Amino acid sequence: MLVVMQESASEAQIQTIIDRMIEDGFDVHRSTGVVHTVLGGVGGKTEFDTAVVAAMVGVKEVHRIVSPYKLASRSFRPGGTVVKIGNVAIGDGKVVVMAGPCSVESHDQIERAADIVADGGASVIRAGAFKPRSSPYSFQGMGEEGLKLLRTAADRRGLLVISEVMDSTQIPLLSAYSDILQIGARNMQNFNLLREIGKLRKPILLKRGIAATIEELLLSAEYILSGGNYEVILCERGIRTFETHTRNTMDISAIPAIKKLSHLPIVADPSHGTGIRDYVAPMARASVAAGADGLLMEVHHDPDHALSDGAQSLYPHQYAELMKQLKIIAPAVGRTI
Ligand code: PEP
Ligand code: MN
Repeated sequence: MLVVMQESASEAQIQTIIDRMIEDGFDVHRSTGVVHTVLGGVGGKTEFDTAVVAAMVGVKEVHRIVSPYKLASRSFRPGGTVVKIGNVAIGDGKVVVMAGPCSVESHDQIERAADIVADGGASVIRAGAFKPRSSPYSFQGMGEEGLKLLRTAADRRGLLVISEVMDSTQIPLLSAYSDILQIGARNMQNFNLLREIGKLRKPILLKRGIAATIEELLLSAEYILSGGNYEVILCERGIRTFETHTRNTMDISAIPAIKKLSHLPIVADPSHGTGIRDYVAPMARASVAAGADGLLMEVHHDPDHALSDGAQSLYPHQYAELMKQLKIIAPAVGRTI
């Protein structure tokens, strides 16, 4: 921790801060400059709240030197984490495509989705059976029946399954039917759920919250990792900004930033990231070029009649065309797909 004292700070105020830092376990290194005195703290409590010192008399600013997350930080595993599920590996250089409808709607719909997704070259089918909808009157998902249909369709085409778990009571059900458990944007800071998920030994895809910083996303991942579950995949899915043209603002820069800060694989979801079908392919291409380890995308055989997120779901021909383009882009940036 670095504490920069105000120009006017008195010797007594400086000493109060030094005493406080020592109390919190820091070794204090003092540097008296021409204008400011700077106090460097080494060690200290990991959960130390810099805001408390920042508010003390005579303090100008406080900077944390080490990251507040430990297990999620790149320095914990400099080589990066590869999440392996069957013969699919996420984080080892091959771009993993997870595609499918927003929700499981019927037997026929999910069977058609499995064919579209597999024919295009994806290795994972996505679809929600429990849906976090903004309105309680919107379609809420098919529940266990939907999970059964999803598993059957996936197995017929040799696909892995990713589906969302919305609360702790659904964990056993999701674990039984899905290979990857998705934690949605709205649940990124549901700390009780994160702790329960940390007890599992199953791959988790953790989405960035709608208004979450990258640091908050990594702290949420830390909850899962600290429970002993290291199979965490992060997902950038757009954040809310002042822009209203798109549903969310796809933060492509989060991809290289997370690569730098964390060892965990990062997947991009350009469907929720934009909310508009025609922008999904450009953002998917950009995400791969920016270094994403995978893509999570919505595709539907008939988006105009989808029960959820139709406007952002690709038509099958758009998805097929995109997959062809990604096969050109991935090798150009040293990846395969
Ligand atoms: C979804 O993947 O369908 C979904 C609800 O995503 P998010 O949590 O990112 O809104
Ligand atoms: Mn959706």
